[in-house]
Amino acid sequence: MEILINGKHIQKDEHIDVLNPYDNSLVDTVPIADKNDVNYAVESANNAKKVLQEFSARKVSNLLFDAYDDLKSESKKIAKVITEETGKPISGSIFEMERSVETLKFAAEEAKRIYGETVPLDAGLGGKGFYGFTLKIPLGVVAAITPFNYPVNLAIHKIAPAIAAKNTVILKPSREAPLSALMLSEILANHFPDGVINTLTGLGEEIGDGLVSNDNVNKVSFTGSVATGLSIANNSGMKKLTLELGGNDPVIVLNDADIEKAATGVANGAYLFSGQVCMGVKRVIVEKDIKDEFIDALVKDTSKLKVGDPNDKDTDIGPLINNVAVKMVSQSVDDAVSKGAEIIVGGEYKDNFYYPTVISDVKEDMDLVVNETFGPVAPIIEVDNVEEAIRVANNTRYGLQAGVYTENIHSALKCSERIEAGSVFINKQSTFRTDNMPFGGFKYSGMGKEGLKYAVEDMCRTKLIGMNLR
Ligand code: NAD
Repeated sequence: MEILINGKHIQKDEHIDVLNPYDNSLVDTVPIADKNDVNYAVESANNAKKVLQEFSARKVSNLLFDAYDDLKSESKKIAKVITEETGKPISGSIFEMERSVETLKFAAEEAKRIYGETVPLDAGLGGKGFYGFTLKIPLGVVAAITPFNYPVNLAIHKIAPAIAAKNTVILKPSREAPLSALMLSEILANHFPDGVINTLTGLGEEIGDGLVSNDNVNKVSFTGSVATGLSIANNSGMKKLTLELGGNDPVIVLNDADIEKAATGVANGAYLFSGQVCMGVKRVIVEKDIKDEFIDALVKDTSKLKVGDPNDKDTDIGPLINNVAVKMVSQSVDDAVSKGAEIIVGGEYKDNFYYPTVISDVKEDMDLVVNETFGPVAPIIEVDNVEEAIRVANNTRYGLQAGVYTENIHSALKCSERIEAGSVFINKQSTFRTDNMPFGGFKYSGMGKEGLKYAVEDMCRTKLIGMNLR
């Protein structure tokens, strides 16, 4: 595919091969853009912002609704490409597209709801006789940098609210899975003037650093790993930042939980997209009295999963994104086993597949649960009581989401209040997300919130207008 800058499709001499993780076949290539392309994209976006800002909110909303219609009708085609470039089971890719379409609709609606407020200036010293109100105005140019695992929905979570607030956008998708995001951008770009939506593919550091450090970029909206997020925070200077970073989400299962429900939730959350999910269940913290019963139920759910060809609609578990990822997961599991953990089921790998794994007797200081393990692994950590469960849940530098299984309202409320995470779900695993809810982590899991209402707010600046009526 080609990249799009200022309405022009651009090819380059050098390319990145996009490989299908299922069989390592070539899906397509994308250009390796350079610093000149970055500067051209920023200049184009900077010029186009003047045109977009002349549009009424009504017009922007209507254009986003038009793009929504097109995205909906292209969904199946794009879902197929998501599966080809990421290895995501096709049912998951179709669901990602359904969510992406809804995300775009939320943004089209939100474009009509950008309100300022009146400000009682006369409440402050010297403010008597003054009248004040705020305007929510666009930031200008937004750089959107996205990871491989939800290539369309995470891109639309940035592009759509940016445009709803009348900003222009430069999208830099991941090198592993850029194709579906480029298809999405083409659909949106067809409805807006040249330069409103631009795309760049290539090497993360070169393009990323070029975008992030450019003074004509007014905001960086990044989703990806903590390491890249920290580098962006260091390089971005005086820009607004949204950082949606990694997770190490706990699920707590207490003695009074509905064990079957908890096991099903953990299986869904730990193995979703082969565990390559920021809000995946990464640590299963179980009270000791019910541990054996819970593990039996989880093993039963794990054994039902179908591992295989991601194009098959019945497949639950496809390959990991590449072989390096498989090696990283197997090293972390092996390390835990060498320190006393026990594999109950799984622990095997072949080609780019890692098999769904339940591993027990995991201690909170093992690398497997200290780092973000991006694979289909459910590590069980035993605790004595709810107090210890909360302490273990918080013993991490991450804080994206969390789940708690209990039938006791007091324990549910205690966990909700004390777990340090952007969201806590009772009787649901941490992978729960609707696209309108405020989403974003605490601690090293990032800063800022996505979810359309909140993302649009973050895509605006507040300007105060004061009038002297005396
Ligand atoms: P990554 O950090 O390796 O890459 C993300 C993006 O950053 C890619 O487009 C990459 O090319 C770009 N990049 C690389 N170096 C850069 C630099 N120096 N400056 C600017 N951009 C640069 O992440 P990944 O491996 O693609 O994705 C997995 C990670 O993303 C996991 O940690 C996962 O938890 C996280 N994630 C977080 C969320 C969330 O919403 N919190 C959602 C999905 C994934």
